[in-house]
Amino acid sequence: MSLAVNIVELAEAESLAAGGGRIRRVEVEVGALAGVMVEALRFCFAAACRQTMAEGAELVINTVAGEGECASCRQTAVMEENFSRCPSCKGLLRPLKGQELRLAAIVVD
Ligand SMILES: [Zn+2]
Repeated sequence: MSLAVNIVELAEAESLAAGGGRIRRVEVEVGALAGVMVEALRFCFAAACRQTMAEGAELVINTVAGEGECASCRQTAVMEENFSRCPSCKGLLRPLKGQELRLAAIVVD
């Protein structure tokens, strides 16, 4: 829930900086490794928007695939989840991409 509230607060700040229009759409980037339950976020977002400048706003979630580098053989590979193993040597992958969670854009009236 607090994550959704944070996103709404960030979106409101952005809107105010741009003149304070009503927020119609909020786009976020969520990495596959960020530990975010997308469906839960969607559900909480609608509730978090109530009685704010973002009331009724659409939430667009762009997921970013995870990618990591093997600590042993330096190969890069797709990471489906944290603590994935290297497909070649089974070494632990260090995440390079997919941990982000950020507000990408908002659309205001
Ligand atoms: Zn490896």
